[in-house]
Amino acid sequence: MADATATARAEIMRLHRAPEPEVLAPLLKDAALDSEERRRVENRALGMLADLRSAQSSGWVNQFLQEYRLNTSEGIALLSLAEAFLRVPDPETADQLIADKLGNADWKSHAGKSHSTLVNSATWGLVIGRALVSDSEQASSLKRLIARAGEPFVRQAVGAAMRMMGEIFVMGRTIEEAVARMKKRENRGFTASFDMLGEAARTFPDAERYYRAYEDAIHAVGRHAKEGHSISVKLSALHPRYEVAQYERCVPALTEQVEALAALAKRYGIAFTIDAEESERLDMSLDIIGSIAGLPALKGWDGLGMAVQAYGKRCRPTLAWADAIGAATGRRIAVRLVKGAYWDSEIKHTQEQGLSDYPLFTRKAATDVSYLACAKDMLRAKNIYPAFATHNALTVATILEWAGDSRDFEFQRLHGMGEGLYESLVREQGYHTRIYAPVGGHRDLLAYLVRRLLENGANSSFVHQLADERMTDAEILADPVAKIASVGGTRHPSIPLPEDLFAPERKNSEGIDLNDRQELQRVAQFVQSPLAFRAGGEDRTPAADGAGNVTRPQHAPDPDRRLATAAVERALGGFPSWSMQSIEHRAACLDRLADLLERERDHLMALAVQEARKTIPDALGEVREAVDFCRYYAAQARSGLQPIELPGPTGERNVIRMEGRGAWVCIAPWNFPLAIFLGQVTAALVAGNTVVAKPAPQTPEIAAYAVGLAHSAGVPEDALVLAIGGPSVGQALMEDVRIAGVAFTGSTATAKRIARTLLEDDERPIIPLIAETGGINAMIVDSTALPEQVVADVVTSSFRSAGQRCSALRVLLLQEEIADRTLEMLSGAMDTLVVGDPADPKTDVGPVIDQGAYDRLMAHRNAKQNSWLKTIPVPEDGLFVPPTLIAVPELEAVRHEHFGPLLHVTTWKAGQLPETIARVNSTGFGLTMGLHSRIARAAEAVEDVAKVGNLYVNRSMIGAIVGSQPFGGEGLSGTGPKAGGPHYLPRFCAERVTSIDTTSSGGNATLLSLEDVGL
Ligand SMILES: Cc1cc2nc3c(=O)[nH]c(=O)nc-3n(C[C@H](O)[C@H](O)[C@H](O)COP(=O)(O)OP(=O)(O)OC[C@H]3O[C@@H](n4cnc5c(N)ncnc54)[C@H](O)[C@@H]3O)c2cc1C
Repeated sequence: MADATATARAEIMRLHRAPEPEVLAPLLKDAALDSEERRRVENRALGMLADLRSAQSSGWVNQFLQEYRLNTSEGIALLSLAEAFLRVPDPETADQLIADKLGNADWKSHAGKSHSTLVNSATWGLVIGRALVSDSEQASSLKRLIARAGEPFVRQAVGAAMRMMGEIFVMGRTIEEAVARMKKRENRGFTASFDMLGEAARTFPDAERYYRAYEDAIHAVGRHAKEGHSISVKLSALHPRYEVAQYERCVPALTEQVEALAALAKRYGIAFTIDAEESERLDMSLDIIGSIAGLPALKGWDGLGMAVQAYGKRCRPTLAWADAIGAATGRRIAVRLVKGAYWDSEIKHTQEQGLSDYPLFTRKAATDVSYLACAKDMLRAKNIYPAFATHNALTVATILEWAGDSRDFEFQRLHGMGEGLYESLVREQGYHTRIYAPVGGHRDLLAYLVRRLLENGANSSFVHQLADERMTDAEILADPVAKIASVGGTRHPSIPLPEDLFAPERKNSEGIDLNDRQELQRVAQFVQSPLAFRAGGEDRTPAADGAGNVTRPQHAPDPDRRLATAAVERALGGFPSWSMQSIEHRAACLDRLADLLERERDHLMALAVQEARKTIPDALGEVREAVDFCRYYAAQARSGLQPIELPGPTGERNVIRMEGRGAWVCIAPWNFPLAIFLGQVTAALVAGNTVVAKPAPQTPEIAAYAVGLAHSAGVPEDALVLAIGGPSVGQALMEDVRIAGVAFTGSTATAKRIARTLLEDDERPIIPLIAETGGINAMIVDSTALPEQVVADVVTSSFRSAGQRCSALRVLLLQEEIADRTLEMLSGAMDTLVVGDPADPKTDVGPVIDQGAYDRLMAHRNAKQNSWLKTIPVPEDGLFVPPTLIAVPELEAVRHEHFGPLLHVTTWKAGQLPETIARVNSTGFGLTMGLHSRIARAAEAVEDVAKVGNLYVNRSMIGAIVGSQPFGGEGLSGTGPKAGGPHYLPRFCAERVTSIDTTSSGGNATLLSLEDVGL
């Protein structure tokens, strides 16, 4: 049997990202019905549709979806309001949120229209709310009335509407309440699986709280064991770092916790099911479930269950694995077959990570086919107790057809949904159906509810189609097998493979699946292997500024000047022939370089880890960004640098051309020693310039390797000349009056020095300087933001890369009312961080770049010791700066950029968003800014007035993608144009216009021969 589990695991691996048609071919065969079966299934499903429709008076979701379609502004407004409203503590922001969400929607047209009193009551709350937030005459009198009543009426009305929505979906606020409610008439004949509501844990105390909630739930359910209820367990709630990179600590810890819960459940004789989560967690879940199933202490307990997602390409072998594990451990595993709840986010993550293919199907009908074929497998499997979780009548009818007379399985539905579908099956035909029943407070419920509604609001969803009066029964019950067979199982045409995301312009950079444990281990081993360092920077620890590019000396000493002069001479010598090459030739060199970078990715990552001390994910990001730069600038050059013919009087030809200016100097920082280095260089090259490239003195090896690859890709050696050295080489290069332009990324002080040097000599021409400098980047968080999301984004933005990104968050501005709660969660999240060797896959925060940086950061940190809100321990050996939260009385107290994992925190007052943005603007820096708010108008307001190059709303502030988020600041943060954007290349070019008189004298002879058209 061990063989069977191993075979299934191998198949799980093989199908993970296999092409969709290949995965679907066998499933299609098994899901197909013959014409007799199809007729019976259709008839049965038609009956169910009728039942469902007649149950709609109690089917709140259907009512809701019917009244507020999610593609209307009302539907969306209601959902966004529901998601945020109950967590907003302060009235001022609550009012703004209401105004924002209700303001533009037409609630009145919905009032009284629904068959459901509940929907109507909720709607009236919204109508009044809407009236109160508008500026109309009517609103003013209503407001006066309410002011007299002295009641914050609008908030109460909306709050009541939101709570009403909540009540429908929550089985009880406590487990006792929920167990009691299952005894009510509406639930007669059903059993429940109770789920503890909440987001995934972000901190260890959160995880402990969840653990205790599960324990309590088992006790409570256990006391009523005869009633047959069970519980559902979400592993991500039990560990704040349930991630592949943290496998060694989270899997054993979770196994221990699940074992304890399982032992308790066994004692009471109740069952529990482990929920299915994101696809990257599947392998870890299987390892945990496999260990639990094998425990001798749990022998004889048939209550162990797991959810399996049919939208995943690995669904079928996962079931085979469950069957094999059951056989090997002498038990039936209870498998809940679901379609899957993370479809859109999985698609997005796969695209972001540039992976080879999706782990799940891209057509809804393919998921249905997979579900049916897998349901058939489950009905046949000896060691699986099947539970079919669906609200889809066709799916249910097909399963009933295949199950025949058997009752040895159950159906499951979500509480609040699918009413009408199962009642007669349960009460008249004796089928067993379980209700998945969320337990918890309204605040936690609403995030869950919104996800459910969004999922079911999708056009392709069965529940949505049922509520859509325009859909015929035949359309709703269309055969998924026929649908998929008709397209040969191919991927959905609107969901390109990640590599084609930017097609036809260019290929996307290829990622590595770092959530594949074997792949991660392989990469880790490679980046840890010793490399021969050859380039040999002469000065690895200069007293550098933030980005390691100081040009402190007034005038360069002779050897550095000789090196610089020789480099410039070489590049000048290469200019005539390189600039004469066609745009296509130069662009093709960049495309070849991109391919070489991908071929050499492992080696380049090893260099980034060992030389620049990047963590593995950062090193991968570095290579991918460099590849994207090459392909993006190649594509931009092909489309944007071609000569353009301009209009003019007859007999004249006017053409504007974009040509290289001469020899450029590109000065790159150590924090992106490959991506920024090559970004500058390739842009200059493709525009027809030759380049002297000076990497940061800390990172010469990776630069030398990249230059070698560029030469192999066809860039002549005298078109790209490497000048390795410290600040004085940079200074000498700047002093060389023959250079044609400078692209610099580093500190503001150095950029200013460069600008002065370029103007020093009266005789030299004025040349372009593209400077990307630092920033005092702020994130503003208001009380509508989701704290879990804020905390995750703050940790990423301020501590990833040890805070050594220009875009990193430096000052967190929290609205006063939510500051304590957010800081508590943020502190807890910091406790989960691993600080250590960057080559270790589990490391979140590595060391800082050099001793100089370490000393400066530690000096600042130590000076602020009295203001520490939180810090965490770090290894003693190495340049590890402890991630630290530092309280500051006001934003203005942060005067300089501190280029490391030190985050300053201060607060702002409700209603003072405009003033707060103005204060951020007045720092003079303008690189990145973050905003977390559910108020759309807040985002618009910030967008209108913030003077920053890159504004990030409700996401982290780092990780700009070439071509999607062109990057660069303004004010003290840089000159622009933005790297990776459409306006970058022209800055490297000389624009030349030729105007030719095409007539020998006077007019244009061709005019005289024009035909008399239209006379
Ligand atoms: C009791 C119960 C427990 C659940 N537990 C879990 C769980 O542990 N983990 C989990 O992930 N989900 C879980 N779910 C959620 C479940 O996955 C969704 O509710 C379910 O997918 C809806 O399926 P349906 O058959 O009711 O609806 P249908 O409308 O027939 O199917 C909708 C589903 O199709 C899939 N889909 C939509 N568009 C596409 C597309 N373009 N390509 C491919 N597939 C697409 C999605 O999975 C979507 O949810 C559970 C559901 C129930 C009822």
